[in-house]
Amino acid sequence: MSTFFALSPLARLRSALQRPAILHRTVQYAFLAFYLYVGLRFYAYAQWVMGLSADYVPKPASVEAFLPISALLAAKRLLFTGEYDLVHPAGLTILLFALASSLLFRKAFCGYLCPAGTLSMLLGRLGKALGLRCRMPGWLSLVLSLPKYAILLFFVYLLLIQMDLPAIEGFLRTPYNMAADTKMLLFFLHPSPTLLIILGLLLLGGMLFPAFWCRGFCPYGALLGLFSLFSPLALWRNATRCTGCRRCSRACPSRIPVYEKSRLSNPECLGCTECIGACPEPDCLQLRFGYTAKARILPFWSALAGSLMLLCLMYFWAVSSGNWTSRVPADMLREHHVNISRMEHP
Ligand code: SF4
Ligand code: SF4
Repeated sequence: MSTFFALSPLARLRSALQRPAILHRTVQYAFLAFYLYVGLRFYAYAQWVMGLSADYVPKPASVEAFLPISALLAAKRLLFTGEYDLVHPAGLTILLFALASSLLFRKAFCGYLCPAGTLSMLLGRLGKALGLRCRMPGWLSLVLSLPKYAILLFFVYLLLIQMDLPAIEGFLRTPYNMAADTKMLLFFLHPSPTLLIILGLLLLGGMLFPAFWCRGFCPYGALLGLFSLFSPLALWRNATRCTGCRRCSRACPSRIPVYEKSRLSNPECLGCTECIGACPEPDCLQLRFGYTAKARILPFWSALAGSLMLLCLMYFWAVSSGNWTSRVPADMLREHHVNISRMEHP
């Protein structure tokens, strides 16, 4: 530690970023700040589109990341017709990115990029600071990880199995879908008593148990976790070097028993490599690419770097091909919003 403080500020920053836990949090906070900025821009846009302000602010397309139902329906339509969604194209692009990223680089999307994951982590830290955190027995941890699969199954059945293509096409063109982003904003700005109770329970659960929302209830994370099972990127543990101290599991945000497996392919693994940083035995835990004993050793930051590169590639492809910004004219959206508002509040 004293060597660390003897370094120049730049060397200190470089040294800090070579620690998995610090790199992990730095990237999480950077994306959280980005989403706060997006939220403010979106609020200004919503004021204009609902006819409450005369100042036009373009909609930040990345807000469509919060419309997973519309994106899931658009993905089915893309699969069967080859047609890209014109209403919320950024939402579809982000879903495709998240799926591809999980397939290749584990759940780096959840671990580094998702603001709900960061807030969940911060809530867990607050609970720990207040002395509220509970130790969860293994069986309870398993039981609490199941609801998200049930919620995912419900949505898959309802949206992908029950709805045929004409129904999906019809839904995607409805004014309701076009206004889904602002309706979501209003849903949280003017919460119903039921929503307040649910949010209160999630807040309390988040302080009692680490990553309560992500591990227990997020259907998006459940879907990405299932895709990540096939990822060639995984943590490998060298059993001959492992002393069984379990520091890896204590450092793991998902509380995975890392010390139990030689190759860890767990749907909860975020690829954050905090376990590597916590392991005191050199080269005992490694991030590797491949499925066999010949799997190639990679630097600890590979899941993050791969995921960010993929994000940049997909973003530039979407922007250059016109599949990022909604093709629905802004004036038409404003008209839809005002009409919906008149129908709901005559
Ligand atoms: S097992 Fe390691 S890489 Fe996976 S979530 Fe836990 S700390 Fe992160
Ligand atoms: S921290 Fe390292 S040595 Fe300790 S149990 Fe985990 S893998 Fe084994």
